[in-house]
Amino acid sequence: MQSSICEMCLNSDALCSICKSKLERGETNQIEINISRFINELSRKVRSLENVKIEKAIESGTIVIVTAKGDAGKMVGKGGTIVKALAKKFGKPIKIIEKTEVMRDFMQSLISPAMITGVNIIYTPDGEIYKLRISSEHKKNMTIEKEDIMKIGSSVFDKKIEIIFENQF
Ligand SMILES: [Zn+2]
Repeated sequence: MQSSICEMCLNSDALCSICKSKLERGETNQIEINISRFINELSRKVRSLENVKIEKAIESGTIVIVTAKGDAGKMVGKGGTIVKALAKKFGKPIKIIEKTEVMRDFMQSLISPAMITGVNIIYTPDGEIYKLRISSEHKKNMTIEKEDIMKIGSSVFDKKIEIIFENQF
């Protein structure tokens, strides 16, 4: 399997100096490391996990795991066995999402069952900011914190993403 840490660190409890500095710079995080090691361990028994790639994992009320395109089904496992094992091991609901080409599609799966009603792109001297508009009525349906949604989207697409709740008329 592939993730943000190297193969040596996947197979040990310690971090090499390169992976350690990635952690310090925020390019990876502890839950991402723990999940990657757990999946790596499982991949010895579950062959379908051997080539899985974890792009990102972030913990909030739910643990969100972002996989490479085509890998979400493998991470869920037959009859949900893998995702159930993850939820049991880490004690939280797990949401697995594939990275997509189109940012809006990805963000929509992330905030589901809430709906994106529109996207505004703001051009600033520091670059573009993508403002995703979500109906405030849907706010209660969201299982992931707004800040975490912005964090996940921004790190997966390397873009500034903001979320705005708006009242529908
Ligand atoms: Zn390492």
